[in-house]
Amino acid sequence: MRKFILLGLFLLSNVSLLCQRNNEVDFISGQIDLNIQTANKTLKGKVLYRLQVAAKTNSIFIDARNMQIEWVRLNGKKVRYSYDKDQLTIDKKFKAGKEYSLEISYNCTPKQTVYFLGWDDDIPENEQIWTQGQGKYSSYWVPSFDDMNEKVEFDMSITFDRNYTVVANGKLIDTSENGQLKRWTFDMSQPMSSYLLAFAIGNYRSNELHSNSGISISNYFYPKDSMLAEPTFRYTKEIFNFLEQEIGIAYPWQNYKQIPVRDFLYAGMENTGTTIFSESFMIDSTAFTDKNYVNVNAHELSHQWFGNLVTEKDASNHWLHEGFATYYAALAEKELFGEEYFHWLLFDKAQALEALARKGEGESLLDPKASSITFYDKGALAVYMLRVHLGDDIFKNGIRTFLNTYQYKNVTVTDLIEVMERVSEQDLSNFTKDWLQDTKFRSEEIKAHLRKNSATINSFLTMKRELTTSSENNEAILRRYWDATTSSEFRKRIIDLYYKSLSHDFLKMAFKTKDLKIRQALALNPKPISDLLIENYESLLLDKSYITIENALYRLWIQAPEERKEYLDQTRDLVGFSNKNIRQVWLLLAILTSDYATADERSQYQIELFGYTAANNPMEVRQLAFGLIGEVFSFTDQNLKDLINAAVHPVWQFRKFARDTVDRLMDNNEQKQRLASILDMLDGAEYEYLSLKLFQE
Ligand SMILES: [Zn+2]
Repeated sequence: MRKFILLGLFLLSNVSLLCQRNNEVDFISGQIDLNIQTANKTLKGKVLYRLQVAAKTNSIFIDARNMQIEWVRLNGKKVRYSYDKDQLTIDKKFKAGKEYSLEISYNCTPKQTVYFLGWDDDIPENEQIWTQGQGKYSSYWVPSFDDMNEKVEFDMSITFDRNYTVVANGKLIDTSENGQLKRWTFDMSQPMSSYLLAFAIGNYRSNELHSNSGISISNYFYPKDSMLAEPTFRYTKEIFNFLEQEIGIAYPWQNYKQIPVRDFLYAGMENTGTTIFSESFMIDSTAFTDKNYVNVNAHELSHQWFGNLVTEKDASNHWLHEGFATYYAALAEKELFGEEYFHWLLFDKAQALEALARKGEGESLLDPKASSITFYDKGALAVYMLRVHLGDDIFKNGIRTFLNTYQYKNVTVTDLIEVMERVSEQDLSNFTKDWLQDTKFRSEEIKAHLRKNSATINSFLTMKRELTTSSENNEAILRRYWDATTSSEFRKRIIDLYYKSLSHDFLKMAFKTKDLKIRQALALNPKPISDLLIENYESLLLDKSYITIENALYRLWIQAPEERKEYLDQTRDLVGFSNKNIRQVWLLLAILTSDYATADERSQYQIELFGYTAANNPMEVRQLAFGLIGEVFSFTDQNLKDLINAAVHPVWQFRKFARDTVDRLMDNNEQKQRLASILDMLDGAEYEYLSLKLFQE
């Protein structure tokens, strides 16, 4: 999966140690049949497993969390079972060498893993149901296997309202209708771990592409977002073709689908053949420069090999998922955006890891509890160094051999290293120690390679040293390096790092480059705008970047009060990213500009901005609205209710943001009273959360 950027702790999808495993039994196939009811958010399901018994045993186990089991049949006959709300145990004398069928009928109302959105409001076309298995356990909605080592060839049928689109792992092979209901049947032809099971239901349209190898790729989008489909899914085909070619093993599944959903728990999740991703990546052409889906697109697709085709035995082998997906995504970006982009991407990762190591927080890549930055970024750099070490041809040959040897199986890091040693006829114990076992980060080694491969990184590092050692005036040094390069990566960093010491003349020259990235660095810098540069900043309002415009607007509004009306007029029709960044800042500034609008209009703006905290908005819209309103105004009762709703939201980053906001309000007696006054209007988890807050403190 791909985390949102800057997200702190990573909860591993660890196998519960309490689960008993079926060492004597192999589950071959599973047919899932679901009937989903939105009124009570319940799934009525049946699953039929075919299993082979290798050695005789008296019981088999299946994970099934918090379900009502209706009945269990073995070879078509009812069989005795016990169920403790976590695991279903079938006690019976199972004979070695025999094959059995096991069918389970159940009902469940999953409190996690399956998410129902938009079913409790009157807004048309915003209803969704989707799953997130990794870290959340598919056994909340289908009796299955929390242990990643049990790979099953799953097929799924889902019965639902015919007006919606239903997507699940595998190839849609049949649909049938019965009145308002429709049944979709999906077929898989290869086995996978249960955490990769997925479905998504909503109002979607899709575009279908085909890879050079003939694989069907379907990109889903909301009907209202048809204009966003092209920029969002830009380069999908190129990425797909590149990865097949680069990895050297054909894409392992029948088809590929990408489905955006609201309030997703991560940036994206690589369910087998069926990537689900956050709708906040649905962007227009302008936003493409700032924040696009390309990296997540390539990352989740890479997992279809690294994670899905070969799957870690346990979390101590997580490098094989995240390190490789991050590395191959960077390679795909290199293919699209060039070597310069690629090397600076690795350089930034190395810088962040170096800073972490300096704080003494370096981690081993084999530590099952390591953080995201270790698994993803140190992991990607370790793959990069492995390739440097072996050379391109041997590395690629090794990867092909590894994937071929272990396809549809589970793997360890040791398995990979053994293959690489065999293929290269080299001893990799030093590599393993330095890059995988060690908690240290070998920053100098990485940088030496990046210097060798990128002339601009080389001169950037030389420049940094010169700035600390030379007696020459800093700006003169910076100017010399600036003039000697055309690299916008390099120049952008000069602005980012040394803005404070740059003269007006230097900055004016930087504005003139017309380079969007350099101009964005200028827009983002926190130093107050000098009067001499006002005109330059005004020109930023026309750039094709929502980050640039948002920051330029805000900073100009502060710096040049007499021009506020002008700035607001110029940006009044802009919305920005999916969090409506420009629209929301615009509303705030328009409300605060006393002579800008009529009293009537101002109150309309207020209603709109304050309305963005409501639960029917995407969480990124809500979070920004809470932030902006909280800075300047006090929350209305409705905002407070929305805030408590956010404090029990399934996405923990958003939940944490809301809880931190509530904690700050609680420190103020008046605000605490106001929170107390809305308690009786709440129920369920919201009531529970707030009453605990109010009465424990
Ligand atoms: Zn990932």
